[in-house]
Amino acid sequence: MARRKKVYEGKAKILYEGPEPGTLVQYFKDDATAFNAEKHATIDGKGVLNNRLSEFFMTGLNSIGVPTHFIRRINMREQLIRAVEIIPLEVVVRNIAAGSMSKRLGIEEGTALPRPIVEFYLKNDELGDPLVSEEHVIAFGWAGQQDLDDMVSLALRVNDFLSGLMLGVGIRLVDFKIEIGRIWDGDYMRLIVADEISPDSCRLWDIETGQKLDKDVFRRDLGDLADAYTEVARRLGVLPKSGMQVSKPTLIN
Ligand code: UDP
Repeated sequence: MARRKKVYEGKAKILYEGPEPGTLVQYFKDDATAFNAEKHATIDGKGVLNNRLSEFFMTGLNSIGVPTHFIRRINMREQLIRAVEIIPLEVVVRNIAAGSMSKRLGIEEGTALPRPIVEFYLKNDELGDPLVSEEHVIAFGWAGQQDLDDMVSLALRVNDFLSGLMLGVGIRLVDFKIEIGRIWDGDYMRLIVADEISPDSCRLWDIETGQKLDKDVFRRDLGDLADAYTEVARRLGVLPKSGMQVSKPTLIN
């Protein structure tokens, strides 16, 4: 069999050419990075968990009419996705102050925000993904006004869906990041949720104990990242109740 063509390799994922035009295969690696890749480690099983979790969230979003790039999972580490033209912005939604917002504005971590706040960060590693305003987005042509309106509305729908899902399993959705891409159906362009949704790109706190169940476990050296992600997956029913051996993964059908 011919080797697949690699289209792109990022910090946590690889994209390969898909089997049909307009599709890609997204491969989830075990690599974890933080602080703009200054901190790096390999965490056994993380890619398997994120593939499963992203499938779960994206399938749920598709089923309530929030369009995403997800088509189907292929195997433990790979999923088939629609190829999109990624908008060069990270869209962050916050329900509770944490991370860079707490630092920037001096708001104590854990403070509930008066309403969900949507922020845009320019995807640019050299600049450390700076926060940008909607004025910047329009003036520099990263997206148009209609795109911005659509991105905010998509992001808020994702927030409502994910917050509810998490609340149901005793987890508070503090904040999350999504990426959004364009697809064309003939002359008609629309925006869909792309990339991944996983504990790598969310802050998830246990409602009872405040325990962190997301990538902050790695960023802040709070324990075993795979254990935290396994707990999220287990609560959501994404893993069999008996748990899964993540260091020596077995085939899941
Ligand atoms: N986030 C992400 N990728 C990034 C930056 C942020 O997935 O490159 C997520 C992060 O996990 C958190 C939310 O976006 O859920 C807000 O992150 P924040 O701006 O607080 O930055 P951080 O403290 O992670 O540097």
